[in-house]
Amino acid sequence: MNTAIEKYEATIGLEIHVQLDTKSKMFCRCDNNSENAEPNTNVCPVCMGYPGVLPVMNEQAIDWGIKTAITLGCSINPMQRFDRKNYFYPDLPKGYQISQFFYPVGEKGNLKVDYLAGDRKTKKEFAVGITRIHLEEDAGKLVHAKDATLVDLNRCGTPLMEIVTEPDIKSPEEAKAFLQELQRVVRSLWVSRADMEKGHLRVDANVSVRPLGHDVLGSKVEVKNMNSFRFMEQALRYEIERQVDLLEKGERVEQETRGWDEKANATVSQRSKEGSVDYRYFPEPDLPSITIGKEKIDEVGADLPLLPSALRLKAEEFGLPYARVNELQDLDKLAEFASVMTENNNFDPILVANWLPKEFVGEKAFTDFVEVIMANKLSGSSAQKLYDLLAKTKKTPAELVGELKSLSEEDLGKIVKQVIDDNPEIVAKVKAGDDRVKGFLMGQIMAKSKGEAEPALAQDILNRILTE
Ligand SMILES: [Zn+2]
Repeated sequence: MNTAIEKYEATIGLEIHVQLDTKSKMFCRCDNNSENAEPNTNVCPVCMGYPGVLPVMNEQAIDWGIKTAITLGCSINPMQRFDRKNYFYPDLPKGYQISQFFYPVGEKGNLKVDYLAGDRKTKKEFAVGITRIHLEEDAGKLVHAKDATLVDLNRCGTPLMEIVTEPDIKSPEEAKAFLQELQRVVRSLWVSRADMEKGHLRVDANVSVRPLGHDVLGSKVEVKNMNSFRFMEQALRYEIERQVDLLEKGERVEQETRGWDEKANATVSQRSKEGSVDYRYFPEPDLPSITIGKEKIDEVGADLPLLPSALRLKAEEFGLPYARVNELQDLDKLAEFASVMTENNNFDPILVANWLPKEFVGEKAFTDFVEVIMANKLSGSSAQKLYDLLAKTKKTPAELVGELKSLSEEDLGKIVKQVIDDNPEIVAKVKAGDDRVKGFLMGQIMAKSKGEAEPALAQDILNRILTE
């Protein structure tokens, strides 16, 4: 890595395409779930762009766009209108894409993000401005076969939500944390499955670097084709270093579009930005503009879920350390954690987080389970046994705890004595101050007790006998 990198700062803005999980496509009745369909079977004259056909707006997609915009703190445009973005490409039979250029669903929002720093302890926080959110339709796909390029139009007309951020992101780590948070947000709203590997969530990044303290931004390079969180982080890291290297050599960073090549582990130039395409946007004449009144906004904005960051903050307020909170990225688990802790504020938050219901149905069984672990000071392995027993029977945790076959202190004492008698050399080493070999004795005790010993108790007895 170029050490000069510390003398520079990076500026990153993202453009994210989120595939909406509506039942039908954006402007026709075709099924919107055709990932596994045979090529060109999930199409109709509307999405294939036959002359003379008329698109019809998908109200669900509009509502979900508004819902996401409200959640991200955007102001909602009172007038929504679609525009034509004209360009030619073989996967776009209409010759234009219907998009919202002049009047996006929402503008000027923001998303607060927190993530765990590299030390795995510290909470880092930042906010990213949302420039705009607009709706549009997707194009088809080109499939490059051995000696031909084939066109599959199944994806034509799939509803997309494009989210454009302000250039507020300062590092590849922040970009990844932001995108992961955005994924959680759209999933919590149930508007998209947002699976990056499946292309439900696609991201392009604008990256520039400038010497620390400079006011003017450096030339912007657009990076495309980052199909996973890991590739995005790698691509951004590579691109920042590439630009710093150029500047250090006194060269210019060209304004261009580059793609991430995962095999080469590098971004490669795709096209120069100079003389960029004019899309000749104009209002889509086949769709009426719609007015979004207060009533609509109230209806769509009712009962929105808490933002993931608010759920995490709640968990922290219940005493769960941030590093543990950060591991609970599953929003259902975070919500369950909050609900258990609200009802039982005497519970040990770490214990609750460790045992959050996976297979458990019902909060009652879980609450009893935690109570029994705490009251009986059960070790992890005994708690696991209790958990397994619970899954098999209809008995309550309180009834089952008596059936746990933990060894009594007396029986365990006998096993410990036996192990000590069997291993005089090891014992001599421990007594001479070599604590490292103690683990061997513990291993023998656990093996002889067939795993039924409470490790903490066994350790106590062992230490007591050894110091006698
Ligand atoms: Zn169709």
